[in-house]
Order: sequence, then C-alpha cells, then structure tokens
Amino acid sequence: MVLGERDRRLGEALYSSRSQIALRMVSIGDDSPGEGLWRQRLATAVAFRDGLHIDATAYRVVHGEADRLPSLVIDRYGDYLVIQTLSQGVDRRMTELTQALVEILSPKGILARNDPKVRGLEGLEQTVTVVYGEIPDIVQVREGEVHYRADLRHGQKTGLFLDQRENRVAASHYARGRLLDCFSYNGAFALSLAKYCSEVVAIDASADAVTRITQNATLNGVTNVTARDANVFDELRHFEKSGERFQTIVLDPPAFAKNKAAVDNALAGYKDINLRALRILEPGGVLVTCSCSYNVDEPMFLQVLADAAADARAHVTVLEKRMQGRDHPVLLTVPETYYLKCVILRKH
Ligand code: SAH
Repeated sequence: MVLGERDRRLGEALYSSRSQIALRMVSIGDDSPGEGLWRQRLATAVAFRDGLHIDATAYRVVHGEADRLPSLVIDRYGDYLVIQTLSQGVDRRMTELTQALVEILSPKGILARNDPKVRGLEGLEQTVTVVYGEIPDIVQVREGEVHYRADLRHGQKTGLFLDQRENRVAASHYARGRLLDCFSYNGAFALSLAKYCSEVVAIDASADAVTRITQNATLNGVTNVTARDANVFDELRHFEKSGERFQTIVLDPPAFAKNKAAVDNALAGYKDINLRALRILEPGGVLVTCSCSYNVDEPMFLQVLADAAADARAHVTVLEKRMQGRDHPVLLTVPETYYLKCVILRKH
C-alpha cells in the first residue's frame, strides 16, 4: 500500500529494494484489487488483442504498464508464449502468472526469456528457462501471408520484432521497384515487401541474421531477395559512389541512443543514414525510416529527417507518421513509451 501526505492512501504498488524505480503503481486510490488482480488483468489484455483482429500468429499479449501490468511482457508465438518478468514484484509472481496463462490461453509451452540486462538493476539474475510445457528450438509463425522461423531462446527481443508488424503492412502500400532493406535482422520487411518489388537487397551486420533471411525466403518461396552480411553505414556510401539506386528503402536501425548521454551521437547516426538513403533514392521513391530510441522523441527525429533532406537537396513529403503496433500501446502520460517512430517519406 502507498500512503501520501497525511497518510492518504494513494493506491497499491510493487516495491523494488534495488531499482531506481522503487514503486510501480498497480492500483490507484481506494481501489483494492485483491487476489484475482493479475489473472483479471491478463484476461483483459488478451481480450483487447482478440478485438484487434491481428492478421498474424505472433504478437504482444502484455505490454507492461500499458496493460496495467507493470514490468511484465508476454509475447505469443502461435501455441507458445514468451514471458519476461522485469521487476522483483512480478518476478515473485511467476508461478501465479504461469497458471493464469495456462488457464486463459492453453499454450503448449511457456518460455521465461528473463535475460534482459534491466533485470540486473533489480538484483535479479539473467536466465532463460521453460516454465511450462515444451518449447521447440524453432517455432514457425505467420505475419499476414509471410511465414517466419523464430528462435525464441536466442533470437533478439523475444525472437522477432513484433512491434513493426503494422509498419510492414503500411510500407507494402508504397513498395515497388528495387528495394533496399537496411538492418533487416531476419528479413521481415524484405520478405513482406518482396512481392511488390522487382528485386530486394537486405543488409544486416549479423551473419546469423543473414542466414535466417535466406532460410525464410526459401520457406516462403521468395526468389528475388539477396541478403548481405555488411555494415549499413559502409554499404550506403558504396551505393552512393557506385551510382546504384533504389525506388524503395527501409531503415530500421537498432536503438542508437540507449541513454540520454548518447543522444547527440545517435542524432548524428540517424542523420548520416537518412541523408545517404535520400541520395540513393530515385525521384518518386519512398523511404520508410524508423527510430526505436525512446530518448529520441518524434520532434527530434523529424528534425533529423528535415536536416538530412536539406543536405541531400531533396524535396521530401511526409506520407505517414507511425508508431509501434497497437499490441504495444503507448501510455498517454508517459511520452517515453512512444519509443518506435516510423516515418514514411516520398522524395520528389
Ligand atoms: N528490421 C528488422 C529489425 C531490425 S533490428 C525487423 O523488422 O525485424 C536491428 C538490426 O540491425 C539487428 O539485426 C542488427 O544485427 C543490425 N545492425 C546493427 N548495427 C548494424 C550495422 N551497422 N549495419 C548493419 N546491421 C546492423
């Protein structure tokens, strides 16, 4: 229970003895949620996703505070669930949460992917364990018409970048000609857009990611995708010099600003890749450009894009300003939870 001035009851919160976030509010005012709270909130989160009519078998079921389940993340990959308990308070409830998930969603297996570094700030160990049923080495899931092989134990995040699903659909409305997919991981943008494009070049610095792009292309019978293990910063320079041009470009880099101190360098990085992408984009071409750094907010990101366009001497219009998918909702009063910006631009 949290008491304010003159012992006024403010609500109930999870307490952490280690984190800088000492309290995470679970209820407000006199509302006393009682025993069934966690199960009830899980059921509400599941029902909300059901109502979104998501055309995919992989999506986020619980997005922490946005679902009034602070520091809890749950992703669904078909019959399997991945759970992350990122504070002392929810970690202690792992058994209760697992039981409730089994009752509500009847999964074949639940994996606790508790290896994020933030657990260290809570004094919790980093572990990956199966907490219910079985988890295969590879789980096959579908997004729209595209099938992916996901490695829930070792893949980035909980296996795939589920937060970009709706942006891939949006990008498909514009994609055509030669597509360059930068920072492509397992090729989700490349494969979603391939059928609208004549040729696709996908680039990622991880050799494993590039192998998975090729495997996923084969899985989907896609034959116009070439995957390359390279540094995007270097490749964009090479394309600029060699005169190679594209009609559609996707930039989906990792978070360049992991903290406030890194913001200036991050802005320089975003400017560099966007400037070069605009230079190698054909007139009439479309740039789908993203930032998942919550320390770089939308106005800052738009300013970087404007600076890049000015330097590239390009006349650029904004077709769409987008964010993470609706299964990853933003908290209205916590601007940082709007972490993923996705801007779709057209070069005239
Ligand atoms: N677009 C992907 C997610 C990208 S995550 C999707 O929709 O699923 C960011 C990716 O950038 C990671 O796969 C990482 O390996 C890659 N990466 C990081 N730095 C890079 C660099 N300098 N050049 C190329 N790839 C890089």
